[in-house]
Amino acid sequence: MSITNLATRDQQVIWHPYTQMKTAALPIPIVRGEGALLYAEDGKTYVDAVASWWVNLHGHAHPYIARKVAEQLQTLEHVIFAGFTHPAAVTFAERLIQILPQGQSRIFYSDNGSTAVEVALKMAIQYWQNEGIARRKIIAFRNSYHGDTFGAMAVSARSAFTAPFWSYLFEVCFIDVPIPGQEGETLKQLEAFAAAGDVAAFIYEPLVLGTAGMVMYTPEVLDCLLETCQQHDILTIADEVMTGFGRTGRTFASDYLQHQPDMVTLSKGLTGGTMALGATSCNEKIYEAFLSDDKRKTLFHGHSYTGNPVACAAGLASLDLLLQEQTKQQIDRIGQRHAAFSQKFRALPKVLEVRQQGTILAVEFEAEGTSYFNKLGDTLYSFALAQGVILRPLGNIIYVIPPYCITDPQLDQVYLTLQGMQELIIGERYFEPPSQTTLHD
Ligand SMILES: *Cc1c(COP(=O)(O)O)cnc(C)c1O
Repeated sequence: MSITNLATRDQQVIWHPYTQMKTAALPIPIVRGEGALLYAEDGKTYVDAVASWWVNLHGHAHPYIARKVAEQLQTLEHVIFAGFTHPAAVTFAERLIQILPQGQSRIFYSDNGSTAVEVALKMAIQYWQNEGIARRKIIAFRNSYHGDTFGAMAVSARSAFTAPFWSYLFEVCFIDVPIPGQEGETLKQLEAFAAAGDVAAFIYEPLVLGTAGMVMYTPEVLDCLLETCQQHDILTIADEVMTGFGRTGRTFASDYLQHQPDMVTLSKGLTGGTMALGATSCNEKIYEAFLSDDKRKTLFHGHSYTGNPVACAAGLASLDLLLQEQTKQQIDRIGQRHAAFSQKFRALPKVLEVRQQGTILAVEFEAEGTSYFNKLGDTLYSFALAQGVILRPLGNIIYVIPPYCITDPQLDQVYLTLQGMQELIIGERYFEPPSQTTLHD
């Protein structure tokens, strides 16, 4: 099979995600990956500074994960997960429960982050119905992102991305993200909704709102919000799809908190970026509300590939690597290097803000209009690619979420690229229209 002209062949048959296919540049064919590097068909290499959409933890084509997946494939590739079970799903659930925030005791598998959110929302809504109590409302952060399926879209920002579907989305009580200076206002908003007594659940991205532009807030204010929810019997759902598995410096962002959630959603790093897998965990309180002789109290949800053995094997292998001392050191090293870079970078002209939490770094540049659709993002995206670095700007915000195995020289290359962007912006050369325009998130 020839890979020649792969990009052209792609253009004949593929519809890419988040892509305006009329104006998008040809996709870059990637033929191999190793560590933090991706190898293109034309021989160019790219540092994967966005961990291939925030999923990759230990590097591409990791030999240990590959071996474990291959072994599983030769043993059992899939089995129906209602009425049947298998070692990989059970062992992975046992090990997840050991490391998840205190109190999480059940794992419900699905296929991705959006479905993990759908399951959590269904658990929360049906929990109150099973209890025979009228609580229907969901509280969420105004700028949040919880996925692209309908329930997940409903609890996400009302943005240009979801505009065609607004009238189909259920109503949600939105509160402002409690960024520094905004904490008191957010608490007031939450208390006002909570006082009505009809709120079923609060769903939140703990400490870092990813798609909103790596917007960050403190564990202290989140603890206050969670305490208010607990006082009002509002169920809490920590969406750790992006923040889980070491991203924020600890295993979960919830590990920075005193108050623990009723449910946690997981995906992205769940398999180290190897297989599509989602998981929703919950505590015994939620689980027990579904136990009944009345079959109508069952959680009637499932997917064909629920608990897929190969995906669970990838998850187990990734967890082995995550818990190694060496990986903890890599995570700490990235955090320290990000912090040192932030210190210098935030003082530069046209740099509005630099935010950092663990391995996540975000740089916000001063720009005309701050929307996703502004031209700056396109220019910076092309600039980074020319430097051999994959960075997908969210408008005027550039973030770095590297695989933990990224080397120091590779990190230097990423920082140099950010510096080059800043120089480009000072020179105001970004007003030149890029040769081909693309949209990125
Ligand atoms: C990416 C993301 C999702 C959606 O996950 P998909 O696997 O892309 O469906 C949900 N929540 C958060 C916080 C995310 O970052």
